[in-house]
Amino acid sequence: MAELAPRVNSKNALVGTRLEQHIKHNVYDWEFDVFQLQRLSGGRPLFAVAMALLDREGLLDGWLLDRPVVERFFTEAEAAYNGNPYHNATHAADVTQTSASIMRRVQQHLTRSSGGGQDGDDSGRGQQQQQQQQQQQRRPGGTGLSQLERFAVIFAAAVHDLGHPGVNNDFLIRTRHKQALVYNDRSVNENMHCSRAFELALETEGCDIFRRFSAEEYAQARSLIVGMVLSTDMAVHFDLMARYNTALEACPDVRLWGDKDRALLLQVLVHLADLANPARPFPLAAAWAERVVAEFLQQGEREAEHGLPVSAMCDPARVTLPRAQLDFIRLFAQVGPRGAPWMRAASSER
Ligand SMILES: [Zn+2]
Repeated sequence: MAELAPRVNSKNALVGTRLEQHIKHNVYDWEFDVFQLQRLSGGRPLFAVAMALLDREGLLDGWLLDRPVVERFFTEAEAAYNGNPYHNATHAADVTQTSASIMRRVQQHLTRSSGGGQDGDDSGRGQQQQQQQQQQQRRPGGTGLSQLERFAVIFAAAVHDLGHPGVNNDFLIRTRHKQALVYNDRSVNENMHCSRAFELALETEGCDIFRRFSAEEYAQARSLIVGMVLSTDMAVHFDLMARYNTALEACPDVRLWGDKDRALLLQVLVHLADLANPARPFPLAAAWAERVVAEFLQQGEREAEHGLPVSAMCDPARVTLPRAQLDFIRLFAQVGPRGAPWMRAASSER
C-alpha cells in the first residue's frame, strides 16, 4: 500500500495511480466511496479530497491560494481530527466530497441562463427580484458561485467537525465541560470546530491559508465559513430549514437571491451534506450507520461513568441500528418539499 500513499510536494500532491484515478474520475459522484479513498490515500482521505477538489475547482495555482500552504493546512487539519468511530477525518472527507457534489449541481442550476422571467414572473415581487437581479449581474463571476464561495464551502466542510470529542453538545453541557463554559452552552462543538480551524490557519506556522486574501476577502470568507460550520449543529436544523423555505417562498428562483440568502443557501448545502448518509448507496449508508451508533454507545458508557442518566440514543438497552436510522430519517433527512429537491438532484443527476 505504501506506493499508493499521497506524497506532499509543491508540484504534485497526489501520487499513486489508483488514488489519482479514484479521485479524478469520481470526486463529484454521489456514489463516491470515501472508505476506498481512506485506504488508497494511506489514511489521509481529508487531505486527498480537499486538495483534489480545490484543484478541480481551479482554486490552486493562479487564484489566492498558495499550494504549499494549503497542503500544510490540510495535513494539520486532518491530524487535528480524533479517531472517533464516526466523527473522524474520514467523515470530514465524506462531507467535503458530498458538499462538492451538491455544490456542483447548485452551480449548474445557478449558471443556467435565466433571462429573468422563466417562471412567468411579473407579479408582486417583481421589483425586489429586479433589484436582486441587478445585484447578481454586478457579482464577479456572473450568477454562479464565485471562487471565494466555492473555496469557503470546501474549507467549511473540511473543518466542520475538527477536534470533535466523540460526544455531543448535550453531554458537554451536562458534564459542565470546559468548552461548554467557553461557549455558554451554545453550539459548543460547532463553535469549537470553527474556532480551532481559524486558530490553526492563523496561529500555526506555514498554515495561513488566507494570507493572500484582502481584508474584505478574508471577512467575506470568514463570515461564510462561520455560518456554514455553525449550521451543522442539529439544534438549528428546523430553524435553518424554516428560514430556507421562507426565502424560497419569497423568491423561488435562487439565481436571484441576494448575498444574505445566498449565504443561507450555502449553509443548507453543507448541513444537508452532513445529513446525507442515509441517501447514499446502501453499503456506504450502512457502514456510517454502524459507526454513528458505535459512537453513541461509547457516549452512553461515558454518561454512566459520570453518574448521569444514559440518553435514549446512547443506551444499548434501548438502541437498535434500524430504529435509530429510521428515527433520524423521519426527523431530519426528510427535509420537506423545498429542501428535498437538492437531495434528489444530487442523487439522480450525473
Ligand atoms: Zn459532521
